[in-house]
Amino acid sequence: MEKVKCLIIGSGPAGYTAAIYAARAGLSPMLYTGPQPGGQLMITNDVENYPGYPAGRNGPEMMEDFRKQAERFETVIRNEMIVKVDFTGPIHKAWSESGAEIHSPTIIIATGASAKWLGIPGEHELENKGVSACAVCDGFFFRKQKVAIVGGGDTAAEESTYLAKICSEVHLLVRRDEMRASKIMQERVLNTPNLIVHWNTSPEEVLGTDGVEGVRIRNNKTNEVSTLDISGFFVAIGHQPNTDIFKGWLDLDDSGYIKAVPGRSLTNLPGVFASGDAQDKIYRQAVTAAGTGCMAALDAERYLVETGL
Ligand code: NDP
Repeated sequence: MEKVKCLIIGSGPAGYTAAIYAARAGLSPMLYTGPQPGGQLMITNDVENYPGYPAGRNGPEMMEDFRKQAERFETVIRNEMIVKVDFTGPIHKAWSESGAEIHSPTIIIATGASAKWLGIPGEHELENKGVSACAVCDGFFFRKQKVAIVGGGDTAAEESTYLAKICSEVHLLVRRDEMRASKIMQERVLNTPNLIVHWNTSPEEVLGTDGVEGVRIRNNKTNEVSTLDISGFFVAIGHQPNTDIFKGWLDLDDSGYIKAVPGRSLTNLPGVFASGDAQDKIYRQAVTAAGTGCMAALDAERYLVETGL
């Protein structure tokens, strides 16, 4: 068994930022990276919207910068996953996949979320070559081009109208004859001239070799198959927060996101703090995740001072 003052679970922008702040506050944090060290930015090419990088930065390289900065202040980083927790407190417990048992009065959760994918041919093969799960991150690369986006929820509605401002033509593929998105978002979609909604339509295959060249679609009512010529294909069918191990301990919403006190990182349990996409289904940006990682570290530090643990 090992004792630390602050255990950080997850290694995206939220986790590393929490580590930088916690380490500089003298908490000597331990950080478990999880299965994809660096998080969702590891599957992104160029990040052009993170302030401080005027020329943009390759996603994996940016996460290496984050990691080095956390290590500079002596964060102990382990490339492993936490598989079980016991938040009975006041000293919380966590176990890694190799069986290490960590005891800590503060836990910062930064386990993120994973985009859901369709699982159709071409989708995985062309990921980062025109297939993306984040319009805000990658829309700019398809300026004045034709793109398609799949989904019928608020994310698809928001991202399709966002893309319509940048791209010449946006094809929104909705699998049913109605959208799940809120009324106001749907109205925005329907009132955007260069945004074409294809109802009852599912993509069957993303076409192209070195980049996206088109998508084969099927009308679910008539079974008619056709091809759309596009150079960008966006998937917006929801995210899955990586919060399974916290079920039963933390208050989660219906989709599994951690319920933090609005504007804070506090969860329903003393000493357990939430940051990043595991508690944010609205903004989901690297910079917002980093901000909440900072908040969680400051809240953890304050909690240690107040409790004397
Ligand atoms: P949702 O789960 O709300 O919607 C997912 C959408 O994707 C549904 O329309 C669903 O279709 C469709 N879908 C799922 N699987 C497939 C598939 N295999 N093929 C085609 N379509 C598929 O996810 P969102 O990310 O849109 O939203 C998540 C939460 O975040 C919601 O609560 C939303 O309100 C919230 N949100 C709020 C925002 C805001 O307030 N500004 C912005 C973004 C999100 P079907 O309807 O047929 O099931």
